Amino acid sequence: MTMFENKDQSFTPLSDLGEFGLIDHLTKYFKISKKSTIKSIGDDAAVLDLSEGQTVMTTDLLMDNIHFDLTFTPLKHLGYKAVMVNLSDVCAMNVFPTQITVSIAMSDRFSLEAMEDLYAGIQLACETYGVDLVGGDTTSSTQGLLISVTALGQGPKEKITYRNGAKPNDLLVVTGDLGAAYMGLQVLEREKEVFKVNPQSQPDLTPYDYLIERQLKPEARKDIVELLDKLKVKPTAMIDISDGLSSEILHLCKQSHVGCKLFEDKIPLDQQVITACEEFNLNSTTIALSGGEDYELLMTISQNDYDKIKGNPNLSVIGFMTEPSEEPHLVTRAGQSVALTAQGWKSF
Ligand code: ADP
Ligand code: MG
Repeated sequence: MTMFENKDQSFTPLSDLGEFGLIDHLTKYFKISKKSTIKSIGDDAAVLDLSEGQTVMTTDLLMDNIHFDLTFTPLKHLGYKAVMVNLSDVCAMNVFPTQITVSIAMSDRFSLEAMEDLYAGIQLACETYGVDLVGGDTTSSTQGLLISVTALGQGPKEKITYRNGAKPNDLLVVTGDLGAAYMGLQVLEREKEVFKVNPQSQPDLTPYDYLIERQLKPEARKDIVELLDKLKVKPTAMIDISDGLSSEILHLCKQSHVGCKLFEDKIPLDQQVITACEEFNLNSTTIALSGGEDYELLMTISQNDYDKIKGNPNLSVIGFMTEPSEEPHLVTRAGQSVALTAQGWKSF
């Protein structure tokens, strides 16, 4: 039972194909575009030539009812998002993603058509980001759906950016805007409650289109890796925003042994976030700080690089790093200092 279900679909049980038939069927239209992919799906293991630069590798596991809700997550979007969360981690190392593997465990309540939708999203992600699907594993489970994606990326050693390189006085810079993915989830969860009572209802989600897109179809900021290259800016530290701005700032501070001063009035918010926060009676700063799933990049850059990024619409300077003796804190619009906590912020 899903909110956006295509009601005229026919369903083929997965058992009609068998495991090998299923993998063949789902992956036959995937193309290989990377020189470094020597052998992809079809043998006991993929073969890659990673002799240039350094290789980064990351993995994420997404579990039904924990990380996603199939009531309002179309499977195509889920496939896309499962790839994006991994590509975002690769981009956060200032590296271009190159290959992924995808492993799936699913119960027999999923049909062939459902798996086709999931793989359509995975394929769209691969094509859009120029990434090769080179393998995976497929198994049945007693209930639900589990997706594990591993992503690789390759880049020159000098460019790879860690969480631990921030220095006092470096500028704190964030891409895009924050809080929209979380507000999208609030809207979808509210509509789910309406749907439970009245399954015939067709929600009008137009006023929330940006929020919902940010929740269901996030994008990894590969364009920022390109932009930094073009501007000749190497961040001193970088991290992607999966859990919320404040917890990511705390990671940078802890690993770099610095403090941080963040300015509330500099935090970039979309108008839809501001409007939805008013409607839901939430504080938009709290949502930006603790909402999560924005998949923007948070970086620190040397003040010497400020002229290179000044005025760029993709990059907002939201604060600066300080000596470690100063705790990471937020300066509010009223000029008050409040300590940043992993959940957001608290008054001194
Ligand atoms: P093995 O028995 O050695 O694990 P499999 O039969 O599971 O091999 O896999 C055969 C091929 O299909 C391998 O190349 C594997 O990487 C690929 N593969 C299996 N499952 C998936 C999947 N869900 N998505 C993409 N490729 C897959
Ligand atoms: Mg296998």
